[in-house]
Amino acid sequence: MLTPMNQMVAEAIAAGQAVPAFTCYDFTTALAVVAEAENQGRAVILNVAPKTAGNTAGLRLISALRTLGEQAAVPVAVQLDHASDAQLIARAVQAGATAVLADGSAGTLEENIAFVQQVRSLIGPQVVLEAELGALPGNEDKAFEQSASQLTDPAQVARFVQDSGAQLLAVAIGNVHGRYKGEPKIHWDVLEAIHAESTVPLVLHGASGIAPADLSRSISFGVGKVNLNTELRTATLAALAGQVEARRADGQNVLGLMGDWEQAVTEVSSATFNSLRAK
Ligand SMILES: [Zn+2]
Repeated sequence: MLTPMNQMVAEAIAAGQAVPAFTCYDFTTALAVVAEAENQGRAVILNVAPKTAGNTAGLRLISALRTLGEQAAVPVAVQLDHASDAQLIARAVQAGATAVLADGSAGTLEENIAFVQQVRSLIGPQVVLEAELGALPGNEDKAFEQSASQLTDPAQVARFVQDSGAQLLAVAIGNVHGRYKGEPKIHWDVLEAIHAESTVPLVLHGASGIAPADLSRSISFGVGKVNLNTELRTATLAALAGQVEARRADGQNVLGLMGDWEQAVTEVSSATFNSLRAK
């Protein structure tokens, strides 16, 4: 069932859990993610990257994901991830997105607030708005190594949430997009200070590479949504690379290869759901 993203996240936090948001570049991945969510009885968020949403095929994918969410036995949200283009946001919402990350984090605090407000007036009250404060290095669509990040300033949090109207807040606390250079260093003191200031649930992006115990721990600091992308892609490509020749020999078995793909996604999403429980 389609469920407002802020509502499903609030319910997860109350149950000592966080909701994973998996980037879906395709329908096969989304099918496997939702099937595993149903298997575990957990809510899930299907994320669509802005690059995907930028053309007709991507907008049709959003519509298909919405239908998938409507038919699912568990709460599902369809979110446009990291969008800084208001027109792109409007098109994605029209195509069926139920949530948006209105990302004004590249600008000043004032510009960020103004952008989120502008998006709200554009999309109306029904669509759930996530915003980001601080800067997460890296690119969601490509895995590469990064280290530095501009941490979220806890002193700005209360005002940002209040003035922007954001319903979820993505934070930069040492997490990065893509692959980590060495061990990720999560700044727990910063997360704790943000948690004390925020009236809305927190979102952790770039969770691929963060230890399961740390993901679990973050839930007790107000994190109710965790974004994953790289880990899913890595597992998918590894599974496909290992099976293409065998499936070719097996009568050009594309259906079998898609099964391998789904299996890889199932394994990653299963492990993720298990991590996203407060211990
Ligand atoms: Zn992100």
